[in-house]
Amino acid sequence: MPKTLIEPFRIKSVEPIRMTTRAERERLLVAARLNVFQLRAEDVLIDWLTDSGTGAMSSRQWGAIMEGDESYAGARSFYRLQAVVQDITGMKHFVPTHQGRAAEKVLFTAVCRKGELVPNNSHFDTTRANLEYLGVEALDLVIPEGLQPALLHPFKGNIDLERAEAVLQVEGHRIPFGMITVTNNTGGGQPVSMANIRAYAQLLRQHGKPLIMDVCRFAENAMFIKLREPGYENTPVREIAQEMFSYADGCTMSAKKDGMVNMGGFIALRHDTWVDGVRNGLIMAEGFPTYGGLAGRDLEAMAVGLEEGLQEDYLRYRLRTAEYLGERLEAAGVGFVKPTGGHAVYIDARTVLPDMPVAHYPAWALCNALYLEGGIRGVEIGSVMFGKRLADGSETYHRMELVRLAFPRRMYTQSHFDYAAEVIAELRHKAAGIRGVRIVRQPPFLRHFTCECEWV
Ligand SMILES: *Cc1c(COP(=O)(O)O)cnc(C)c1O
Repeated sequence: MPKTLIEPFRIKSVEPIRMTTRAERERLLVAARLNVFQLRAEDVLIDWLTDSGTGAMSSRQWGAIMEGDESYAGARSFYRLQAVVQDITGMKHFVPTHQGRAAEKVLFTAVCRKGELVPNNSHFDTTRANLEYLGVEALDLVIPEGLQPALLHPFKGNIDLERAEAVLQVEGHRIPFGMITVTNNTGGGQPVSMANIRAYAQLLRQHGKPLIMDVCRFAENAMFIKLREPGYENTPVREIAQEMFSYADGCTMSAKKDGMVNMGGFIALRHDTWVDGVRNGLIMAEGFPTYGGLAGRDLEAMAVGLEEGLQEDYLRYRLRTAEYLGERLEAAGVGFVKPTGGHAVYIDARTVLPDMPVAHYPAWALCNALYLEGGIRGVEIGSVMFGKRLADGSETYHRMELVRLAFPRRMYTQSHFDYAAEVIAELRHKAAGIRGVRIVRQPPFLRHFTCECEWV
């Protein structure tokens, strides 16, 4: 067998991307106040800002879109998608939503009360925000290995079972349910093992608590289990996914990830207990329970996408993509979070810019340099995103300076990755010329989206 793992698709429709000159990019970045969030997408050559809702749909999905039944109630498209979700999750109740955070909001509002506490491996930011908005404490309990960027471990997304048990014993009365996020978004999609999910579910059951899974990347997680967990080498990925779901009592999904669509999400529930509350909340916020904020055609595309996202050739290529870029970075002496996860690579900016003071935001600087050098857009996960300016004008900084490159599904080919690897390797040699920034204007919250900067 040849060793090259090819993209398991051919191209039927193309979207041109625009090369710009270095001089143009200098001008565009300054006009964007040195903040890549403020660039126009058409001025970006390779857009790795996020993998969320940015992927390419298949010809079968576009075909299914024409089949969308736009009836307000009881549309055929709802029943088609419900059958797919029920088969994969094994859960009785399916409630569509327009995206993942809507699923979270509707479920948590129906189930959680102020003063409660929800343990998770790591809460995604919208999950945390939706819980905290309701006055619920969101507790992260990922294993210690999951917090060490250079440490190799096959399942860095695992939850720390000992700490989870201690929390259940002491705080059990405050816990409405336990959560686990597959894959764990933190660190670029680190997987959770089947053994960990099973043991966590059992622990929760001993304490009489249900398990809710955040399943945005359940298919990528299932493929990691097949590749890394002894005993699953020969199990079809679909069956691995079904076993993962078998331990959960409910789940929230952003179909913009492994649902392979540009917009969509859902809640699935095994039992009847919460369904009425969830459906009532849905009608208030999203729409009638058979469309949940989506068009019938969106439901069709999701039904096809959920099946395609579980194809093993696709998943093998998908996980290999991040791994391949990791190998190229390793060869170039650029550090990154290891091992690479499912949907992204996190560059450790400190390995490119070891001498830049943190006050000049090295990861932000590297992010800008990636755009200037190669027209590539990533996102800073460092002291602009997580640092804070205090009342006295001083700042707190993040403990890591990372640049995340997140990969849209089925969109970029190997030569795009080769190009990016070359650009990043080149930046390591040009590090002395990479300029840091100072923030001249910023909002009180989530400053990375809109802050304005100047070169130092
Ligand atoms: C994207 C994401 C969400 C939220 O989904 P949206 O569709 O962006 O609202 C929740 N959890 C995880 C792990 C995610 O990656």
